[in-house]
Formats: sequence, C-alpha cells, structure tokens
Amino acid sequence: MTNHALKTLLLFLSSHAAFSYADSNQTATTPETTPKVVSSIYPLQQIANEIVGEPTDLIADSYLSPHHYSLKPSDINGLQDADIVLWIGSAMMPQLKNTIKNREKNENHTTITASTLPGIQLITEEKGHGHDDHGHGHDDHGHGHDDHGHGHDDHGHDHHESDLHNKAGEPIFYDPHLWLSTENAITIATALAAELGRIDSAHQARYEVNLAQFIAKINRTRETIRTQLAAEVPKPYFIFHNAYAYFEQEFGIKNQGVIRNHSAQQANTQHLNEIKNQLSGGAAACLFTEPQFESPIIKKLAEGSSVTVSILDPVGYSSTEQTGYAAILENLAKAVSQCPSREL
Ligand SMILES: [Zn+2]
Repeated sequence: MTNHALKTLLLFLSSHAAFSYADSNQTATTPETTPKVVSSIYPLQQIANEIVGEPTDLIADSYLSPHHYSLKPSDINGLQDADIVLWIGSAMMPQLKNTIKNREKNENHTTITASTLPGIQLITEEKGHGHDDHGHGHDDHGHGHDDHGHGHDDHGHDHHESDLHNKAGEPIFYDPHLWLSTENAITIATALAAELGRIDSAHQARYEVNLAQFIAKINRTRETIRTQLAAEVPKPYFIFHNAYAYFEQEFGIKNQGVIRNHSAQQANTQHLNEIKNQLSGGAAACLFTEPQFESPIIKKLAEGSSVTVSILDPVGYSSTEQTGYAAILENLAKAVSQCPSREL
C-alpha cells in the first residue's frame, strides 16, 4: 500500500467513524419514540403508563361513567392512529366497537381486548340471570340485539354486548369491570409488555423491567389490602352500581345490595322502594355512591335511615393525589373499610 493509499484509507475510516459517532449521538439527543398506546379507561391507562414508562393516552377522560361516555372526534382519531389500543371489550364500552373494528384493517395496529386475553379471569353471568335482580329495565326493551351500534345509552343494552362466545356460538355475558382483580391487572400488563417488546424490540428489556416492577408492586398491594380488610372488617354496605364483584371476590367481602345495574341509566322504582325499606330497617351502615353521580336518588334513599353516604370510585379517575393502578384498589379498600368512620 502506498503512503497515499494508506492516508486515504485512514481518512476514510476516521471520517466514517466520525459519521457513525455523530449518528449515534443524534439518536441519544433526539427524544426516544415509543409506540403510541391508547387506553379506553383510566385503570388501563394507569397500567399502560407503568409498563411503557411514560404517560400514555386515555379515551374516557372524565368523571362520567365510561359505559355512557360519548366519543369525541379526537378520540376516534386517537384510536385510529394508535399503535396499540388497550380496552376491556364491547361489554364495557360498546361505543368503541366500530372504531376498533376499523383500525383492525391496518395490520400494523394491535388491539388488546382484555376480556379475551388468555388467562383472564371472568365473572360470567348466566343468560337471563344476575342483572334481573337489580335495575330491571332490560326486559322492558325486548332485548333488541339487532340495534347494535346505536341506542345503547338510551336503553342500557351494553349488558347484551359480548366479545366472547361459547362453542355453540352463543354470547357469554360477563361482568366487564374485570380490572378490579389484581390477577387480571397482571395478565393485562403482561400482554401489553409482550406486545410492546414485539413491535419495539429495541426497548424490550425496559418493558420487561417495568412489568416485573409492576407485578411486585401489585403483589405488595394485594397483601396490604388483605391485612387492612382483616383488621377493619367492612360494615354492611350498599353500592350504587354493580362494579365491584371482582374486588369483592378477591378480598372476600360482599355488598348487601345494588341500586342499579351498571348498564342502566335509571333504576327501577319498585327496586328503589325495596332498597329504601331495607335501609330504613337498618340493613346497611353505608351507602356508596360514585363520583360522577350527584344523584337525588341517593338522598331519597338515605332519608329516614342512619346510613352513611360515602363515595366509591371503581374507575379511580377522581383520585387526583395518587396515580397508578394500585392506588385505585387501595382507595376502594380504604373507603369500604373506613365507612362509617365513626359510629352513628
Ligand atoms: Zn360499570
């Protein structure tokens, strides 16, 4: 090799090296892009934030019940553009169904439907059973299954939406408030971490670390709540809507009654009269309403009884001080075990 050729080679190598260096430097200074994750409800967003490791997007971002949330145009865009959509399924928010169906045409888009994940624990309801005990209303509307896609808010028909079917092809109805089970939260977080690692393999290790931390935290929370509910056994309580079965099953507690079915806009009058009689007869120490309801019904029910009206928040959106999935469960446990805070 001539001197000249050697010089040229060294120059090439050093300039190439310098170029590479600049290249990697640039990667380090530009913000990292992670897949865009959009969640349907606050508890799922809290799980997503912890697994992604940064704030993610949320659709039902209000105190309103997610069952009756109206999609904004920006929500539809967000759902369409997201790399990953995380939702419970049609039984929880039937209003998302069409938009999610549309995004499935894009093969780069992933949808994680929590209710259909392998390993998810569902509380299923037998046909014609379960929701007839409270709220009624469903039978009045003649089970209009054909009007999917509209009118759900008016009739509370989301109870009849299901993402699951049995071998005979019949829908399996399930309680959609499945995020209130710690095992389900872990199943959802695990599925999300796996999907993030698949589409963003450069950061796979980070997602795995975040998942391990999430699981460890949830395991600690479960133990804390068990200890708390054993020490402060909840007094008999009534709930506003039937959202707590997973939480109650996991922690071995049970409500005395439900004011209205989760999908119904209004409770049945006869049912309300029954509850009022039970409350004035001393059937419960606490009547739990929800943050989004300033319901005159609650006032009426509590009149003439010694029941304490307090708040339970199944979605956790009202908790402004604490964030994170675990705080949703901790706040429920606190509310249930500490009501009434003093003997009346
Ligand atoms: Zn609900």
